[in-house]
Amino acid sequence: MNRLGKPVSYRAQINTLHTNEPAGSITDTLGRPCRDLRVSVTDRCNFRCVYCMPKEVFGRDYTFLDRAELLTFEEIVRLAATFQALGGEKVRLTGGEPLLRRALARLIAMLAGLPGLDLTLTTNGSLLAEQAPALKEAGLQRITVSLDALDNAVFQAMNDVGFRVEQVLEGIAAAAAAGLTPVKINMVVKRGMNDTSILPMARYFRGSGHILRFIEYMDVGTTNGWRLDDVVPAAEIVRRIHAELPLEPVEAQYWGEVAQRWRYRDGEGEIGVISSVTQAFCRDCTRARLSADGKLYTCLFATEGHDLRALLRGGASDEELVTAITQIWRVRADRYSEIRTAETVGLDKVEMSYIGG
Ligand code: SF4
Repeated sequence: MNRLGKPVSYRAQINTLHTNEPAGSITDTLGRPCRDLRVSVTDRCNFRCVYCMPKEVFGRDYTFLDRAELLTFEEIVRLAATFQALGGEKVRLTGGEPLLRRALARLIAMLAGLPGLDLTLTTNGSLLAEQAPALKEAGLQRITVSLDALDNAVFQAMNDVGFRVEQVLEGIAAAAAAGLTPVKINMVVKRGMNDTSILPMARYFRGSGHILRFIEYMDVGTTNGWRLDDVVPAAEIVRRIHAELPLEPVEAQYWGEVAQRWRYRDGEGEIGVISSVTQAFCRDCTRARLSADGKLYTCLFATEGHDLRALLRGGASDEELVTAITQIWRVRADRYSEIRTAETVGLDKVEMSYIGG
């Protein structure tokens, strides 16, 4: 709706959008700019969350990437700068678990040197209590922490390594104390596993200043045994909370914001819901993903990536990098969540732990 309450056509939104796009910015076949680069800095993790990295597959004999296969910090920064030149605004560091990557603060300091870059990170919080001050000091601006329950038995069933809630809560407190605020908390909801934790989580974080987001369980990769029956729709999550803690909708902060925002009517803060399954948001998806070994994916549910590391290590010039990424993005037509069917669920999709959420 425009200020006069008149509906604004999608094309008109796009045109408005493009007039504001910095010179050199690229768009895909659906007119979506490439704004957000999610960078996986490692495919390793110390959790085995059932919806992402099931232990049965990612067990003791699973072969993770060797150190030599990982992009170096210099290579990551070079790619981030190239994305910036093409209209990129935000870099989110992910994994696996990014805080497992040695000397991560040095990478953050290097990325913080890119002018105007919005720099954030998603972590499971297990190592955050000790690392938060150094991450902030290095230039990290914001942080998102995954936490799927407050009840230890439920949380341990979700992370499947017996990790306790308290340590993640200490990490969240340390992040807030370090000034990485507002801290966003991501909870993946799986029916029959942790949906009974929806209200306890909402009660706990209400009034804390942190923003709790509920994520619909997704058919990422090929290993988590996803079933539609295990999905708790975002609308149901909101209904459950609203019944006890009245909510009202809040406008998106920017075009392409992933979470739908709701605030407590009593002013005690807000929550978000991320509804990839029941209310797809592909039409304004501006996200690209880089695996730890330098493959570019244009969708979380992609079946193949584009090898940028070979270009980097093959001596490509900045212009050649710009051309390569432009050619990849220009032909992008991904909208998996809009076309999801029982057949697509079985596609040989890339694992989320390899490219970050
Ligand atoms: S399914 Fe793919 S295109 Fe759609 S929002 Fe997710 S990452 Fe973007």
